[in-house]
Amino acid sequence: MTGKAETITLIGAGLVGPLLALGLVKRGFRVEIYERRPDMRSVPISAGRSINLALSVRGIYALAQAGLWEQMQKIVIPMKGRMMHSVDSQLTFQAYGKHESEVINSISRAELNMALLNEAEAHGVKISFQQRCTGMDFKTGKLHFRDEDTKQERSIEATIVIGCDGSASAIRSEMLTLSRFNFSQEYLDYGYKELTIPAAPGGKHPLEANALHIWPRGNYMLIALPNVDGTFACILFLPFDGQDSFAQLASRPAVVKFFQSHFPDAAALMPALADNFFANPTGSMVTVKCCPWHAGNKALLLGDAAHAIVPFFGQGINCGFEDCTILLQLLDRYGADWERVFREFEQARKVNTDAIADLAVENFVEMRDRVGDPRFLFRKKVELALEAKFPQVFVPKYAMVTFNRIPYATAMKRGQIQDRMLTELCDGIAKVDDLDWDKAGRLIRAELTPLDLS
Ligand SMILES: Cc1cc2nc3c(=O)[nH]c(=O)nc-3n(C[C@H](O)[C@H](O)[C@H](O)COP(=O)(O)OP(=O)(O)OC[C@H]3O[C@@H](n4cnc5c(N)ncnc54)[C@H](O)[C@@H]3O)c2cc1C
Repeated sequence: MTGKAETITLIGAGLVGPLLALGLVKRGFRVEIYERRPDMRSVPISAGRSINLALSVRGIYALAQAGLWEQMQKIVIPMKGRMMHSVDSQLTFQAYGKHESEVINSISRAELNMALLNEAEAHGVKISFQQRCTGMDFKTGKLHFRDEDTKQERSIEATIVIGCDGSASAIRSEMLTLSRFNFSQEYLDYGYKELTIPAAPGGKHPLEANALHIWPRGNYMLIALPNVDGTFACILFLPFDGQDSFAQLASRPAVVKFFQSHFPDAAALMPALADNFFANPTGSMVTVKCCPWHAGNKALLLGDAAHAIVPFFGQGINCGFEDCTILLQLLDRYGADWERVFREFEQARKVNTDAIADLAVENFVEMRDRVGDPRFLFRKKVELALEAKFPQVFVPKYAMVTFNRIPYATAMKRGQIQDRMLTELCDGIAKVDDLDWDKAGRLIRAELTPLDLS
């Protein structure tokens, strides 16, 4: 057991690092963060890094614990549901939940990151920028860095290191050298491209502001999230190769033609489409699973470094922020018994982060393909009707993940049971009124117990 005066070294000042740092300093620890990038508050943010995030209950809870949610609430736009755009520009709205409060919140990644950096520094966290971690010795605690500006190499001695350094984590790479370290990474055959819909005259939103817009096209899709300045941050998800792929969009006319044919109403709102398209990089998406997440009592992985997931459930940062909540709870329970805290943390989280990783891949098919299907929309109506009739027992999977803090693994397991029930109950009917309520009650009572939604 070590004393609280020790310094905890975090690698990465993305979203998770500064939030965790805040929780640690509030518990009396000294915290230093080393970040490979320049300080985003003083240099222009590189293209492709300003994507909006959908923040929901797990993330909000962690921000509220850090005393930051009230401030962040001023810069979010609540999205009440999905607005689907068909190829002939017809709109269909599907609410995310049954209550007004069941919304997800569009927030600028950069604004959130800068607020976290400011708050962490205001609480005494020391952040060193342009310091790329290049390795760690888990026996001695020695950390190696390269200054990205001067290219100078240096090493420091650290007692406790937490790798919050994202999906390509250097601390995780170092763990690959440990015996019996399990690691897998799976890239999607899809890439993503950030694009922008500018504001309408007067700074107004040119599309419904309180919705997440989706142009589902079977094998690919475009989405748009509102910004407070009237613009929309769009993301195009497209295969890297083959038909309708990034490989085919190699010229400005090809890009414009593709958008005009497949997303005509969006194309009409994007005067700088081709410029945007070629100025921004094409990103890739990966699921990373590994274990253990810690090296003795010296180092731990947290956030995307431990469990990068694809973005289709809008849970990456919500999950990373929930990591902070759980780790801090364990610290409160066990004190600075780091090996125990790290072990219990992994035990509590791994099963859940594996579950959300799988749910996120599953949700890609739902978003790009099924949300445009009338049978899928009917199932969603039945789902909401069942929830209304059996509250706290039949809770839609989306709601369990997004509007509650039920463990992800529980949400996945109950979601699978409910999916089977829905298939059985929706078979052969076209109206919610025709639902066999007796059968629904029997199935639900046999397989689902009430949930603790507190
Ligand atoms: C297209 C897209 C859309 C997304 N949408 C959502 C969404 O709607 N909702 C949601 O919850 N999540 C979303 N996510 C996921 C979310 O962005 C991530 O889960 C989140 O950023 C993870 O936070 P992190 O702090 O763990 O990692 P990051 O935010 O990646 O931060 C890691 C930090 O570590 C630094 N770093 C890396 N290597 C080193 C090194 N060697 N030395 C020093 N510093 C280093 C990096 O520069 C970075 O600042 C999305 C992701 C993508 C790609």
